[in-house]
Amino acid sequence: MDRLRPPRAELEALTPYEAKDVRAEVMLASNENPANVPGELLQKFSERAMHIPYNRYPDPLAGRLRELIAEANGLEPDNVLVGNGGDELIFDLLLAWGGPGRKLIDLPPTFAMYGIDAGMTGTEVIELPRRADFSIDGDAVLERLKPGDVDIVMIANPNNPTGTLASEPLLIDVLNSTDALVLVDEAYFEFSRHTMRPHMSRHQNLVILRTFSKAFSLAGLRAGYLLAHEDVICELTKVRQPYSVNRFTQLAAELVFRERPVFEAGISQLLRHRDMLVHGLSALREVTVYPSEANFVLFKVAGASMVWRDLLREHSVLVRDFSRAPGLEDCLRVSVGTEEEIGRFLAGMDEILSRRHASDLFGMAATASRHTKEEA
Ligand code: PMP
Repeated sequence: MDRLRPPRAELEALTPYEAKDVRAEVMLASNENPANVPGELLQKFSERAMHIPYNRYPDPLAGRLRELIAEANGLEPDNVLVGNGGDELIFDLLLAWGGPGRKLIDLPPTFAMYGIDAGMTGTEVIELPRRADFSIDGDAVLERLKPGDVDIVMIANPNNPTGTLASEPLLIDVLNSTDALVLVDEAYFEFSRHTMRPHMSRHQNLVILRTFSKAFSLAGLRAGYLLAHEDVICELTKVRQPYSVNRFTQLAAELVFRERPVFEAGISQLLRHRDMLVHGLSALREVTVYPSEANFVLFKVAGASMVWRDLLREHSVLVRDFSRAPGLEDCLRVSVGTEEEIGRFLAGMDEILSRRHASDLFGMAATASRHTKEEA
């Protein structure tokens, strides 16, 4: 029988997340670490993986990993919650602090999942757009917090996709002016080195998000964590999926976290590569580059979606096209890759823009000669 009841009416307003699996030789679209986990660690993963009891459910709260993260951050284990990537934790926050009749302050352009998860949970989104330089409009945020009706504020710091770091005094002002839950999303902390961790003891409403997907090369395993007041974590454990972080991920994240100094050299190298990328892009005519504190760079170029397409088709380089996102007209975002990947991306950009310049000149010359003939 060909019959199906419709899902919740609210779904009509939502569009599926664009999880297109586009492949290219140079993958610079998702802010991943270009390097896999170092070989010695991979070796340890596989040795330990032999002894995992896969027939048993995992520890729901990832106790060992939780202890390690707590200790490294000078906190107790009940101030830490591990999730299936930061994405799951953002959803948990909206399940617990959002919902119908509740309000989220979002600061676009920013990480799209905040708005998407708000939509899924029926949370009302109050958008307070960033300024032209992508800094937060602090006055607008503080003003909007005054009536006391906001339940949650989400601030990516540094912001994705712009790379902008928020001013710490502004974040403190926000925390001081509200009892709303304030998520400071530090997914790119290992690159920016800025954290709000020192302010946790004074602000029960401060929640910090980190991930293993970027600096620690584990995007494929899905692990992220929150640092928050124990009462916040306790509420989140009421809504979270109990077994979302599998045994293998818990083990791998533990090994990576214990040996995180091994990643330092790679992080410093990526920061040097980011400088190369900014330098190279700035040298291209028609490109505006925005400063970044993360492992990606946002830039503006006329006809961005055509540039995106040509980079992929002709140079097998995949970057992220934001040109249709409000406030990001003609913007593309490129992740910091290896030296070779950056070289290929810059060479592709140079070729595409030079060709365009040549055809513009050719067009101008053709028009000029037509005018000359018409005038003659
Ligand atoms: N927050 C921000 C700002 C991000 O850019 C990302 C990844 N794109 C995440 C959270 C989530 O990362 P993950 O789910 O891989 O931990």
